[in-house]
Amino acid sequence: MVNRERVVNEFIELVSIDSLSLKERQMADLLKDRLKKMGFDVYEDDAGAKTGGNTGNIIGEKKGNKDIPAILLMAHMDTVTPGINKKATVQGDTIKSDGTTILGGDDVAGIVSILEALRVIEESNEDHGDIQVAFTIGEEVGLIGAKNLDYGKIHAKYCFVMDTGGDIGVVAVTAPSQNKIDIVVKGKAAHADVEPEKGINAISITAHAISQMKLGRIDEETTANIGIINGGSATNIICDRVELKAEARSRCESKLKNQTDHMRQCFIDAATRFGGEIEFNEELMYPSFKINQGDSIIGILKKASDKCGINLVLEATGGGSDTNIVNSKGIQAVDVSVGMDKVHSVEEQISINDLVKAACFLVEIIKAVE
Ligand SMILES: [Zn+2]
Repeated sequence: MVNRERVVNEFIELVSIDSLSLKERQMADLLKDRLKKMGFDVYEDDAGAKTGGNTGNIIGEKKGNKDIPAILLMAHMDTVTPGINKKATVQGDTIKSDGTTILGGDDVAGIVSILEALRVIEESNEDHGDIQVAFTIGEEVGLIGAKNLDYGKIHAKYCFVMDTGGDIGVVAVTAPSQNKIDIVVKGKAAHADVEPEKGINAISITAHAISQMKLGRIDEETTANIGIINGGSATNIICDRVELKAEARSRCESKLKNQTDHMRQCFIDAATRFGGEIEFNEELMYPSFKINQGDSIIGILKKASDKCGINLVLEATGGGSDTNIVNSKGIQAVDVSVGMDKVHSVEEQISINDLVKAACFLVEIIKAVE
């Protein structure tokens, strides 16, 4: 049985630890210790050294006594800011911060659901296959822990990432890929009054390019946005440089490519027209994934949700998570709701009932693997 008091106490204890991205050492050491006490072999990989963090990802493994596929349970150790000196307060069924920081339930709720489910499995002497656990670093700063995880240590067939919101039973089974796009538009400076004819205005090039560009919701799978624009130094100087930051996302890789190519072409056409130059750099932040209805991981989720009487809702999400990266390594991975709410804000909160339900769901997921 999931122990409500143990869940709440562990949640409050873990959110009190400062664990900003790439500064997860204290959290990592505590989790290593906790996994070891539960009989896990624990290993810290070299993702910290590769990314400038003060700890690597924590990987744990407990051998099973059943010849069934291994599973990987995953949550991230880092939080966004303001995340120093977090103090959780319980108000009825709700846990909140004191309003000066985030709560940190993203993703301590995921960590706690995993630890509690592991304890319940151990206490019930339930037979299970090999269980692997990965607590990652740097999820909030570009999924860099998951990207640098030592996959040589992972032999799981299925992965359950405990890191999304919504009712318990909501599971993200498809998510887009994202291109991060940096653009520099180069014109030519000149005095705006004395000899404007000699200048090439980078702002004019930029304005023209954007006016020709499809942005916002492109289709049901694709979005694009220009989020930051910087340029110019004085009103009496023809602006010679504008810098922009943009993104494009799609659940379809070819549509992502088409949209990105379209954005590049708009800038090139405008630069050609005005006589300027363009630098256009795109970087794939994470690949998309899509779990199909017929995939065996869906069968596990259905069986587990039936067992604990929760409503299984398979969703598409617009964001990227460690789940995208794990899927790209050939492991079927889904992102399971732990009930986190209003994340990345000082109003972040979580329901204790949801935390308990998430742990129950995960217990049944572990038991449903065959
Ligand atoms: Zn998260």
